[in-house]
Amino acid sequence: MYHSIKKKDLQALLDSLNQSHQCVGPVVSEQTLKYSSISKLSQLPLGYSDQQQPGKYQLHYNSQSHYYFSISTGAQGVKPWLFKPEQKLWSVNKQKGSIEFNEAISEQKPLAIIGLRACDLAALKLQDQHFLQQQYIDPYYAQYRENLFIVAVNCHRSVDTCFCASTGDGPEVKNTYDLLLTELEQDFIIQSGSEAGRKVLETLSSQIPLNAVTAAQEQEKQQGLDKASQQLRRLPDRPVAQLLSHRLNHQQWDQIAQRCLSCGNCTMVCPSCFCHKEYDEPTLDLSGSTHIRQWDSCFTAEHSYIAGFHFRKETRQHYRQWLTHKFAFWHEQYGRSGCTGCGRCISWCPVGIDVTEELEILCQEPSCHVD
Ligand code: SF4
Ligand code: SF4
Repeated sequence: MYHSIKKKDLQALLDSLNQSHQCVGPVVSEQTLKYSSISKLSQLPLGYSDQQQPGKYQLHYNSQSHYYFSISTGAQGVKPWLFKPEQKLWSVNKQKGSIEFNEAISEQKPLAIIGLRACDLAALKLQDQHFLQQQYIDPYYAQYRENLFIVAVNCHRSVDTCFCASTGDGPEVKNTYDLLLTELEQDFIIQSGSEAGRKVLETLSSQIPLNAVTAAQEQEKQQGLDKASQQLRRLPDRPVAQLLSHRLNHQQWDQIAQRCLSCGNCTMVCPSCFCHKEYDEPTLDLSGSTHIRQWDSCFTAEHSYIAGFHFRKETRQHYRQWLTHKFAFWHEQYGRSGCTGCGRCISWCPVGIDVTEELEILCQEPSCHVD
């Protein structure tokens, strides 16, 4: 189903979804964009847009703008809603001479996510591969992923740090959605991509006018996508994975280490990173404890600590681990690179390290750079 709707009628979609789901959408919070629970159209960032550059993120407000979805990305995508930054896995209690283990999974209302972009949808698919399609299925991730209803949005603009066009993941949303919105100046084009999406549109058709899409609207849609495809940054037009695996002793790793703070921001904002640690938190009287999973990063000291030995102590090793895993060895694990071109690691790096620039240097020919 493929229609246009008036912008104000998006409220009917929110109302309909909120009956059966917890609706989560992009909301301006702490001078960035955060996926938060929403029930009203007025919570969406009408009039806001973002400016992003290496080490810089700034929101701008224009009271004359009719656009709800002009901010490309915030510091986080939807990863924190599915793979929680901190997740209680189980608890254990001493009970009259025996011990009792309790699962921490509780019933959740299904999630509906509004406003997901092509880069973040691609990252969601990578997280699905990691948490659901290996030998071990993660029940905590699965709990939120099952019955997830996705309302995706096509980008009509890119910021300076976007490079999804060169990873092949955007800016146009092509699959993995229930409903897809394309925002035009006056209307939305709305289309279904699943049976669940089709049913929601069918229900909406009795509440709001679903209009035929005009040739002028089609043209405006295409112009927006073309504009968003013109991106300042891109991945090197070379076989990055093969080249990187031969650059393990390249001098550029030392050069990067002089700037990199090993803060781990790049991994925390990355929508596809999945590293985590687990630990136990005992009660004060030691009658029980809770087992917790928490996001971790290949930049932390503990990440490479095994049996009393740090096998990656230096910053150059941390950054090399991150970059080579994401852009080279990920191919062996998941059949593609771990980067979807969202640009967050560039914007949120406090010293503005730009992954596309570093790759350009590391993957340069000639082969004198090969180890
Ligand atoms: S590596 Fe950087 S640009 Fe690529 S998906 Fe992660 S945060 Fe986005
Ligand atoms: S590359 Fe930037 S964001 Fe990543 S650890 Fe280094 S300083 Fe932090």
